[in-house]
Amino acid sequence: MQQPDRFLSRRAETVGCEAISRVLRRARELHDPIDLSLGQPDVDVPDAVKASACAAINDGQNGYAPPQGLPPLRERIRNDLTVEFGRDVGDVLITNGVTGGLFLSLLAITDPGDEAIILDPSFVLYRSLLTSLNVRPISVDTYPGFRFPADKVEAAVTPRTKILLLNSPNNPTGAVLTDEEVQSAVDIARRHDLVVVSDEIYEPFLHDRNDSSPMSDSSRGSVTGPSRRPIPSTMRNYDKTVLLRGFSKSHAMTGWRVGYMAAPQPLIARMTVLQQYLYGCASTPLQHAALTALDVPTTDYAAKCRRNRDRVVELLRGAFEFTIPEGGFYLFLKAPCGRSATDFVDRAMDRNLVLFPGSAFSCRDTHFRLSYCVGEQLLERACSILLGIFT
Ligand code: PMP
Repeated sequence: MQQPDRFLSRRAETVGCEAISRVLRRARELHDPIDLSLGQPDVDVPDAVKASACAAINDGQNGYAPPQGLPPLRERIRNDLTVEFGRDVGDVLITNGVTGGLFLSLLAITDPGDEAIILDPSFVLYRSLLTSLNVRPISVDTYPGFRFPADKVEAAVTPRTKILLLNSPNNPTGAVLTDEEVQSAVDIARRHDLVVVSDEIYEPFLHDRNDSSPMSDSSRGSVTGPSRRPIPSTMRNYDKTVLLRGFSKSHAMTGWRVGYMAAPQPLIARMTVLQQYLYGCASTPLQHAALTALDVPTTDYAAKCRRNRDRVVELLRGAFEFTIPEGGFYLFLKAPCGRSATDFVDRAMDRNLVLFPGSAFSCRDTHFRLSYCVGEQLLERACSILLGIFT
């Protein structure tokens, strides 16, 4: 091709994030770096789940699955969610990771020219996916405390707003919505007839609920485990909620691409058709394995992440400004001495430590993200590098 640009759509050019590409390019040149950039659990997929995947493959479960997902998996998730939320949660669709669920939701709900409210900072994909569909992402600032800013959110609603996109526990801030914040989100959504897309992929990582819960011992550890203390979610009392969860983080199945959504039946019906025409279905043998995963406890790994959270907070408190993460496995810290986060992240990379600058998640370049789902020793080495920059 002589002029490749002529063949590239504008849409293709809207997807991506230069801040992330730049870090990953530089990281490839480093020798054995300490990599705290990605949200990749540092454990392997549980043995029982691997065995279940192998058994399904050997058993010939290798053809197309129904586009909506395997009925026993859907039924199990629907039942668990019904118990968790105490109401009929609508229907369930098995997706290609939460990413697949996000894309289907945006495709099914929005038209070009519509608007969706996202909180700033937020997960890097949201802005790109919306822009690629010609939907305007309306960013509502949550600095410095990263709480849900109800007044600002309400002020950002226009007649074109279709979606309020929430993420709790939050990537990158670690904030978990409180019951009161969820209720104000529901009130706004009701007043303006919005769909709430609730990305709850980090739901098993609730640091101040899992271990302290007297119920946690009996937890089956299922991502939808009814015996765990539930996370505040608009799913509880707002029926125009699209709930997104998955297995990438809970069971370290990031490369297996299995997630799910629950939403009102007519929406699921449309998204099922979209999924059929876009991807066919989620991987059949890995859906069998996902059913097994629902009985494999996630509590040990969640407890480890909580211990890591406590350690990193202890080591960096005083030297950096941050809010203590209540869930997930990221810490979002302010770059010290008024430096830009990009500059700070460059200096960390000079010392073989890889992090993402806040500009990947935000209109601001003041903070950087550290992923603490790694081994404790690595975390301690990373912290001593961080403490050595600018001293
Ligand atoms: N939502 C959030 C908030 C995430 O952090 C991620 C992954 N980092 C995803 C969705 C995508 O998850 P999946 O691997 O299931 O597509």
